[in-house]
Amino acid sequence: MLRTKNIAAVLAGLLLAALAAGCGREGSPPVKGPRTDRLPTYRVGTGFQLPKSPTWRKAHRRGYLVVGAKEDQPYLGEKDPASGVYSGFDIEIARMMAASLGFEPKKIRFRTIASANRETALQNGQIDYYVGTYTVNDMRKKIVGFAGPYYMAGQGLLVRTDENDIHGPQDLAGRTVCSAAGSTPYQRIAADYPKAKLVAYDTYSICVDNLLTFQVDAVTTDDAILLGFAAKAPDEMKVVGKPFSEEPYGIGVPRGDTALRLALDDALEANERNGNWKKAFEATLGLSGVPAPKPPPIDRYPAN
Ligand code: GLU
Repeated sequence: MLRTKNIAAVLAGLLLAALAAGCGREGSPPVKGPRTDRLPTYRVGTGFQLPKSPTWRKAHRRGYLVVGAKEDQPYLGEKDPASGVYSGFDIEIARMMAASLGFEPKKIRFRTIASANRETALQNGQIDYYVGTYTVNDMRKKIVGFAGPYYMAGQGLLVRTDENDIHGPQDLAGRTVCSAAGSTPYQRIAADYPKAKLVAYDTYSICVDNLLTFQVDAVTTDDAILLGFAAKAPDEMKVVGKPFSEEPYGIGVPRGDTALRLALDDALEANERNGNWKKAFEATLGLSGVPAPKPPPIDRYPAN
């Protein structure tokens, strides 16, 4: 715990220095990534075959996987702009899944896809699967498939440290709150808290920039995402109140590719059992101060 605190303090210092240098905008390098020395290595299922999955067959022929992800979510999905390397808990889940499908880490090409564009990317075959804080729900299940869930988040609020009047969504009346277009947290505020002044951008990092420059009063999305931003700048921002929704994270797959979905469910279960899931969590998202929870039960729903 002490160690995590120290790391957070160092990160905060670095972020402040970056902000002072005027480069705290979206796309600036992650201040500090996950503990790569503590990441598990995943055994690649050489000779693995999944002929019933059209997605797998296409990737196999191509020779690599194309995986959709986020690039600006601390400890979840971050891209180092200098090296182009992606890191974080979601990225580890993606690598774990790739290994079980017979693809080495270097046979994955990550593509950044914003919240609002995930369904289209899966429907158009632009990506083979998607790992990026993607909440499973019935509406989305009509358009895409979901393996998992592999983590349970909940909607929360991020405010500046000097904010004393916002403790929960009920306090947003008349205040400005920012979220990502096409996200479940955006939809929940629009539907349940109509007195809040809601603004949307493509990404949460733009919302955070707006918070730090006093353009908005709060940022809302999953606690897992907000805690990462807060951990990187604890002097500037804090997460307040209790989570006010359940956001089970699934791996998005093309709808109808049941063979792929169930193969990923098997792979998740195996990695939860052999300790890789916990190890990956502790080296990534765990650094924002969240202790490794028990993963939620996998939902092997029938083909729809
Ligand atoms: N988990 C929520 C969603 O899937 C919010 C995070 C995100 O936008 O990726 O909409």
